[in-house]
Amino acid sequence: RQGVVVITGASSGLGLAAAKALAETGKWHVVMACRDFLKASKAAKAAGMADGSYTVMHLDLASLDSVRQFVDAFRRAEMPLDVLVCNAAIYRPTARKPTFTADGVEMSVGVNHLGHFLLARLLLEDLQKSDYPSRRLVIVGSITGNDNTLAGNVPPKANLGDLRGLAGGLTGASGSAMIDGDESFDGAKAYKDSKVCNMLTMQEFHRRYHEDTGITFSSLYPGCIATTGLFREHIPLFRTLFPPFQKFVTKGFVSEAESGKRLAQVVGEPSLTKSGVYWSWNKDSASFENQLSQEASDPEKARKVWELSEKLVGLA
Ligand code: NDP
Repeated sequence: RQGVVVITGASSGLGLAAAKALAETGKWHVVMACRDFLKASKAAKAAGMADGSYTVMHLDLASLDSVRQFVDAFRRAEMPLDVLVCNAAIYRPTARKPTFTADGVEMSVGVNHLGHFLLARLLLEDLQKSDYPSRRLVIVGSITGNDNTLAGNVPPKANLGDLRGLAGGLTGASGSAMIDGDESFDGAKAYKDSKVCNMLTMQEFHRRYHEDTGITFSSLYPGCIATTGLFREHIPLFRTLFPPFQKFVTKGFVSEAESGKRLAQVVGEPSLTKSGVYWSWNKDSASFENQLSQEASDPEKARKVWELSEKLVGLA
């Protein structure tokens, strides 16, 4: 049978390109889990995705209620779940003041990490029920996890500190909106911190569930896709100069179509079944197992992030 893959944030950029690449193989039915239903439907049509090869379902990761409603709606649709891709993200690089989710949590960590954490925890049960030969949970990471590269070292660097801000709920009001508890808000760092949480979560899933369930847990750095909507809140000059800079100076630039193929590989390639891996691609576009930074591979930190996140999303 066809595999069923749920991709969050499939209305643009990497998620849309991967949805298209997977649907085109005819081997996958893609559930596009998106906050803007109309935008996602239009994007799928404009990308040339065939009717019947995808289903758009509403999911706003900035609301834990919406995450739970998505899980209910998905189950009512009576589709199996073979692969879940946590891809959606929000990036607020110039923000000096936090904004908040419906649950009152700082937006970058709330959407990128906590919304996905709840979604993945709830849908693990569905992945376990699937009879598909290779079931996978993919959490999209970022270069901020590998400090063996120039881009992974650009300030402000991710640093979760002792997690005191996360423990305080990232409310901003009575405490900090930053995971490390810093009083001042930095939108670029909040995004990087959230991506470190994504990578720690993937590894903690692997440690807790891979052996018992056989599910493959993986993350990836898809390359610098300098043209996506992720940079929509950046200053105009940055948005003009960033793509050529990545193309000609760092040479890390990757097109949306190419990045979509990379993510599609992590979803379906028979050779990429190893669990607990952070995939990257070299300049010839061959995949390899990349090393994560010390913080992004710290098992003790992963356990603490897991336990604090459980409390914040109401699982503990
Ligand atoms: P885009 O901005 O193009 O796509 C992000 C997607 O997330 C959009 O579909 C957006 O929806 C969705 N989204 C945002 N907020 C929410 C929410 N509250 N609920 C549900 N969906 C939401 O960015 P990219 O394609 O570049 O990013 C995709 C992934 O790739 C992210 O995880 C990012 O961290 C990662 N990444 C990107 C890199 C790059 O260079 N671009 C590099 C490394 C990693 P909407 O269309 O409605 O805005």
